[in-house]
Amino acid sequence: MADVKPVLIAGAGIASLLLAQSLRRSNIPFKIFERDASFVFRAQGYRLRLSSEGLDAIQAVLDDETWQRFWDACGKTGGLGFASFNAVTGERTEHHLLPPALVSRQGEGKTIGISRGDMRRIFAQGCEDNIEWAKQVTGYELTADGVRAIFADGTRSIEGSLLVGGEGIYSKVAKQLSGGKLKVYDTGARGIHGQAPSTAFKGLGEGVFRLRDDTRPDGAVFIITNVRPGEMDDPNVSFGWTMGGHPGVIRAPNDDYTIVGKTAADMAKSLTQNWHPRFRPLFDDMNESEAAFWKITCSTPSGVPEWPNEPRVTVIGDAVHSMTPAGGIGANTAVRDSALLGRLLREAGGCSPGVTAIYEKEMRVYASEAVRESYSIAVKQFGVSIDEETSLAV
Ligand SMILES: Cc1cc2nc3c(=O)[nH]c(=O)nc-3n(C[C@H](O)[C@H](O)[C@H](O)COP(=O)(O)OP(=O)(O)OC[C@H]3O[C@@H](n4cnc5c(N)ncnc54)[C@H](O)[C@@H]3O)c2cc1C
Repeated sequence: MADVKPVLIAGAGIASLLLAQSLRRSNIPFKIFERDASFVFRAQGYRLRLSSEGLDAIQAVLDDETWQRFWDACGKTGGLGFASFNAVTGERTEHHLLPPALVSRQGEGKTIGISRGDMRRIFAQGCEDNIEWAKQVTGYELTADGVRAIFADGTRSIEGSLLVGGEGIYSKVAKQLSGGKLKVYDTGARGIHGQAPSTAFKGLGEGVFRLRDDTRPDGAVFIITNVRPGEMDDPNVSFGWTMGGHPGVIRAPNDDYTIVGKTAADMAKSLTQNWHPRFRPLFDDMNESEAAFWKITCSTPSGVPEWPNEPRVTVIGDAVHSMTPAGGIGANTAVRDSALLGRLLREAGGCSPGVTAIYEKEMRVYASEAVRESYSIAVKQFGVSIDEETSLAV
């Protein structure tokens, strides 16, 4: 007999909110606890490219109307496809078709993408009343018949039937559940997100672009950006770019990667000062206040470890398998977790013995494959290297 106490969810990120949509449709009660005081869309403007598998998972969860809203909000970029340029000379270095995993159905060779902020906003619709803001989950306690989340201020949540840790790479639920086996490593590589008005991207045309500078003695710097049709001629629209660099090339003052704004913008400008004039407007015209540093992290590259299953606690998304942005598969894997766990809970009518064990067994297979793939691309692209015994965990 399934438990009618609510499913407790830590974090209101992509994975958690999609799980919430699934529970809502299955009439399974739930509560989400989010650390932030509200949806903060600042510095979240980076776009997620969605694969067929990711889109399938999302469509399987959402009702038709919400799916349509989501699909309409996705950009569909064709143009040059996925093209690489030498950032300094401006020459095309590779012109290849999109990686098979990122050629999404219904898009016929187009890249399907959406900003993380828009994705959260759409996934949250209809679930807003079940979100408690400014609740930082620091762990949990099992009760005779359920589980409670523990918050940073020492208070406890109501009793739930299940706790799902979906609170991203610093998940305390993941650490407690796995007895420290779930680890996230600091690769040493850093990045900067930036935004500029669409007019700055005129020189590129439509497409998904990788611009790479291999001329620096301390390592490569590159950006990825997506110039979408329809919006590229609207000067009121801003496009984002994501910059990455080999370890040591991008450094935030005092290694403080929470810094946003001019400091990050100035660093991006300085790193790209010798780039080809065709690409310079992306940096010269950037909206400085939106620039933000980020740290490139990765879960255990050999795959999701085993831990003794706890029927009343499990983990989804980056909390259990964070990846570098290489390969663009982190969110695509996270939404698969939400669809899978949501389906198992629906089939069981709520939290029942065995649900989390089945979920974890299946998730470990595809998530381990995804982490390994993303890591191996990052080794080539970002020059990172993780030693599971000695590298620094975050
Ligand atoms: C630059 C960049 C580009 C990327 N590009 C792609 C891409 O193209 N395709 C792709 O598939 N993936 C991409 N990814 C990866 C993708 O962003 C993540 O995999 C995805 O956001 C994970 O979702 P999540 O819900 O697990 O975690 P998150 O989205 O990180 O959400 C976690 C939530 O938990 C909250 N939280 C944190 N701690 C606590 C706490 N203690 N208590 C309560 N709440 C808490 C956070 O505020 C947040 O709301 C990219 C990542 C980056 C950084």
